[in-house]
Formats: sequence, C-alpha cells, structure tokens
Amino acid sequence: MKKIGIVLFTSDLRLHDNTTLNLAIKENDLVIPLFCWDEDFMNQLQFGFQRVGSIRRAFLNKVLYDLHIGLKANGGYLLVRKGNSAEILTEITNVISIHKVYTKKQVGIEEKRQNEYLKSILRKKGIDFEEYSTSTMYHPSDLPFSMSSIPEVFTKFRKIVEKEAFVRELVPTPSKIDCPTIPKEWMDYSFSESTNLIEKGFSLPELGGEQRSLNHLNWYLFEKQHILHYKETRNELSGLEFSSKLSLWLSLGCISPKYIYHEVKRFENEYKANDSTYWLIFELLWRDFFRFSFKKHPIDYYQLHGIIGKSDRKANRNAEIIQKWIEGKTDNAFVNAAMRELKVTGWMSNRMRQIVASYFIYDLGQDWRIGAAYFESQLIDYDVSSNWGNWAYIAGVGNDPRAGRQFNLEKQEEQYDKDKVYQKLWNNQKLEV
Ligand SMILES: Cc1cc2nc3c(=O)[nH]c(=O)nc-3n(C[C@H](O)[C@H](O)[C@H](O)COP(=O)(O)OP(=O)(O)OC[C@H]3O[C@@H](n4cnc5c(N)ncnc54)[C@H](O)[C@@H]3O)c2cc1C
Repeated sequence: MKKIGIVLFTSDLRLHDNTTLNLAIKENDLVIPLFCWDEDFMNQLQFGFQRVGSIRRAFLNKVLYDLHIGLKANGGYLLVRKGNSAEILTEITNVISIHKVYTKKQVGIEEKRQNEYLKSILRKKGIDFEEYSTSTMYHPSDLPFSMSSIPEVFTKFRKIVEKEAFVRELVPTPSKIDCPTIPKEWMDYSFSESTNLIEKGFSLPELGGEQRSLNHLNWYLFEKQHILHYKETRNELSGLEFSSKLSLWLSLGCISPKYIYHEVKRFENEYKANDSTYWLIFELLWRDFFRFSFKKHPIDYYQLHGIIGKSDRKANRNAEIIQKWIEGKTDNAFVNAAMRELKVTGWMSNRMRQIVASYFIYDLGQDWRIGAAYFESQLIDYDVSSNWGNWAYIAGVGNDPRAGRQFNLEKQEEQYDKDKVYQKLWNNQKLEV
C-alpha cells in the first residue's frame, strides 16, 4: 500500500525552503497539499472587527492560486477545502489512509490550540501529526537561549544572537510532487486568478504569491539595488522603493526569511555591503524577536497590561471616537491620511503605523487592543506577533525599556510630511471602499 501524507498549509504558502513539504515528499509515496479556508474563523469578531477583512481575503485567494499553479507545475495540485481543519482532516482521513500530517508551528495562541486539538484527534486514529518551524530567520533550536529565557529587550537579544547563532541553509525546493486522486466533490473551492484587490496604493507593488515575492526581492536587491539606501529611506511614508515591502509576502509565508537573508548576503558578496544591507537583516531580526517573545508570553501580549502585568493603560472604548479614527475623520489630518490609506489599500508605512497607534493610545485615550484588532482585520501584511508586539510596545506594555512611545505629532509631521504631500495624496482622495 502506498504511504500517503498530508501537508496542512497555513501561513507557509510556498514551495521553496519549506520543511513540511520537503519532509512530506521525502517520507511518503504520495502527498496531499491541503489548505482549509475557514470562513467561521475569518468571520469571528474581535472587539467588533472581523478577524480577516476583505482585503486580506482577496490577497490570500491570490496567493493560494499561485501556490496551486506552483504545485501543478511540479505534477501536483493544491486542495483548498472550505471548513475548519479538524472537520476537513477527519473527512479526508475517513476516506484515505493517511500516515502523517505535516504542518507549521504556530505563534498565535488560538492557532497553537487548534494544532493541539488536531494532534489529539489524529493521534486517536493512529495518525502522526508533526509541527515544524518554518517562519523565522533563525531556527528556534539554534538560539543560544531557551524560549523561557529569551531576553525581554531587543538589543540584548540581537547582540547575543548576532554573536552566537547562525542562519541555516535553505531546505531544497521540490521538483516533483505526486498527489493521489481525490473525490471530485472535494474540489469545492474555486480559485480565482484575478482578485478585487485594489492595487491603487502608491506604495504597494504588484501583488501575487510565491513567484511574485521572489521576483520582487530580486528587483529590490539586484535589479534596482534599492537595498543600498534602505536605512536612509525606510521611514518614508509613500512610494515603492523606500522600504522592501517584503512584509506582504512574509505574512503568508510566500517567501522565507532565510531566503531573504541568503540573498542579501549574496548581494553583499557580489556588489556591496553597507549599513543599509545590514539594516534589512536587523529589521528581520526584530520580526524574529517578536515571534520568539510570543512563544515566551503566549497569552500576555493580548492583555491590556501586556507582558509587564501592570500599567496606566485603560480599557476605554468610545465607539464614536474609534469610528472616526478608522474612517480618517479625527481632528488630525496627518493621522487621517494614513487611516484612509489603510482602509483603501490595507497598507500603511511603518512610520505611520507608529504615529496612528500613538495617537489612538495617547491622544484619543482608547484601549490599544482595539486598535490592534482593527489592524489585524485590515492590514494586508497582518502578522500576529509583529502586529500585537508593536502595538504593545507603543502602549508601553511590551518589550520597550522606555515604557511606551508617545509620538509628538507636530514634530513627526514636520520631519516626514513637511509639504503635506502625503496628506494631500490621501485626504483629497474620494474613498471607494
Ligand atoms: C502598530 C504597528 C503594527 C504593525 N503590524 C505589523 C503587521 O501586522 N505585520 C508586519 O509584518 N509588520 C507589522 N508592523 C511592523 C512594520 O511596520 C512592518 O513590518 C513594515 O512596515 C513592513 O514594510 P516593509 O516590508 O516595507 O518593511 P521593511 O522596512 O522593508 O522591513 C523589512 C522587514 O523587516 C520586518 N520588520 C520591519 N520593521 C519591523 C517591526 N517594527 N516589527 C517587526 N518586524 C519588522 C518586516 O518583516 C519587514 O517586511 C507593525 C508596526 C507597528 C508600529
């Protein structure tokens, strides 16, 4: 009898450097690449916001289509089923004899619990369920400390990691995938190549899945060499080149952070190394840091007082104030521009994310978790630890040794939008949302 494994894809939607896919192909005769499109989870409300808003769904749809095409080119397919993973895996394993399910380790608490549940139901049926780390630059088991003793402050973490750890080589990209024949009625999800995505942002590159992300990185590094000015431009507000835009693809795992690391190193060897080439890796280390910190504090990051347990933050919730912030109708035109950009495109620069978060927490006096939940629903590059970790940081309940970041908005505007170019761009737009 042929050995069959399932790869349960979640936010690792790529073929390259993907341990789950690689091992499944190695250890089985046939593999079912599966993604569960779970409407109930996406529709769940968090502080009144849908977990996954329409822009994120459209992007996910596009990325899944590209993954399907990538798998097809290697002789396989992507099975996208509507429903939650427990129901779908039960249905599949009732019909096909499965040896093992391979999936990625999760960082969000609910996703972690879901994996524990899947493991328990599959184990009862004698099916192995194994999770693998696929989304950080440094592998967690290569860190010079245990998860429980990860430093709370980034600088300390960074210095030790840079000195004592290394980034692994890439896992090979499969060149052939043999998938079993499955019942036709399981193919109940219709991929759509085109999406309703609004690509009228002034900062968003052309969207797509794995191949698009690899092309984009190549463009950013080798074709245009924008990496060489990254450190100087990364705080700008608008445009294609000022920052890498890799968060789009990192959020769904279309690109591996290890791949980015090795490509930057290749660029440094072939062309030039400067502060900017280093700084991109530095920022990716921030991403790793938040992910590892979430493993240390899996629940506290979602609490009002965060990982410090005690603070001045209040659980204020004024629906009218919050709605005005969301709609870009506050008393501050600078904040409004960014909130309108977010609403239309799902995107906002790092600098504006910091500014609108600070405004929400300190000027409007609202519960920071409500802002984080809106971002979760709306941000096209939403990433659980980068989002909640940064919000907690600005609220002074996260990993900030300075206990909070209140931004002086006038100073910020003077520095980053002196001629109000950004404000005019978004505040004069007729919103079609
Ligand atoms: C309130 C708030 C919410 C945020 N929510 C998210 C989120 O949901 N998803 C997300 O990916 N980032 C989030 N960030 C971090 C940062 O704003 C984005 O990663 C960055 O703007 C993405 O653009 P880029 O890829 O061009 O970044 P670049 O400047 O080109 O950086 C390269 C990569 O480094 C990582 N990185 C850069 N800055 C940070 C940071 N501060 N924290 C963690 N990783 C970082 C990202 O993976 C990014 O793609 C948030 C920041 C704030 C202040």
